[in-house]
Amino acid sequence: MRRIILISAILIFSLAYIILSNNNSSPQNKDNRIFTVIIDAGHGGKDPGTTGLSGIYEKNIVLPIALKLKNNLAKEYDDMKIVLTRDKDEFIELKQRGKIANSENGNLFVSIHCNARKSEENDKSGFEIYLLDLNRVDEAKSITLEENKFIAFNEKIDSAYITQNKILASIYQQAYLGYSERFSTMIETEMIKGTSLPSRGHFQAGFWVLLSASMPTLLVECGYLSNKTDEEYLKSDKGQEEIAKSIFKAIRYFKMDYDFENSLME
Ligand SMILES: [Zn+2]
Repeated sequence: MRRIILISAILIFSLAYIILSNNNSSPQNKDNRIFTVIIDAGHGGKDPGTTGLSGIYEKNIVLPIALKLKNNLAKEYDDMKIVLTRDKDEFIELKQRGKIANSENGNLFVSIHCNARKSEENDKSGFEIYLLDLNRVDEAKSITLEENKFIAFNEKIDSAYITQNKILASIYQQAYLGYSERFSTMIETEMIKGTSLPSRGHFQAGFWVLLSASMPTLLVECGYLSNKTDEEYLKSDKGQEEIAKSIFKAIRYFKMDYDFENSLME
């Protein structure tokens, strides 16, 4: 029995070592000169996301924010690779979004969403920033989280997929949690300064879209479409531009921080 435990431990540590040493997005990788940002506009196509008071769909608000964010980054950086998981009204499976991020060797993954209060809740307003909580991934299987809801109808994410990705994610979490936490503080600071939305704070949840991306990851719920003031702001070009600009500024700080740390390792 003891030998089996020992062999299992060796296998797990070997797997962790192989994955981390082969991963181009690892903060320790000196050869990784291109900073790659993955921008994930939530939902799309047959998955509308949540619906606002006026009938607008979440998918049609998060896409222009993602495109504006890309434009801001492209204007500032000639050498940055910017990848959108979708750039039009198209359905992309959640697990596919993580695969895109990994195959592009992303250094940072930002998923953009809008929220809606549940029917039993009072009116809510403001933005929220989410980090992945692995302990709550299984809980999410019961479809308690709104952002995972659509999977039930459209994707077959089986237990094997979740178990496998939880093991990988638990390894990456060790390496990237500090980065994700720092980035979440930068986004919150910039959104408080640059938008009219109040901050509702930082949270952790079992969002499946964050599970398979092997890099620092965050999900931003930009505001509540169930709140009149938030919805008007989120629908407006000004609101979308201000949110995109705030996330852009946070990425700029994140990159400075990231580049500085990596330069110390050279
Ligand atoms: Zn959403």
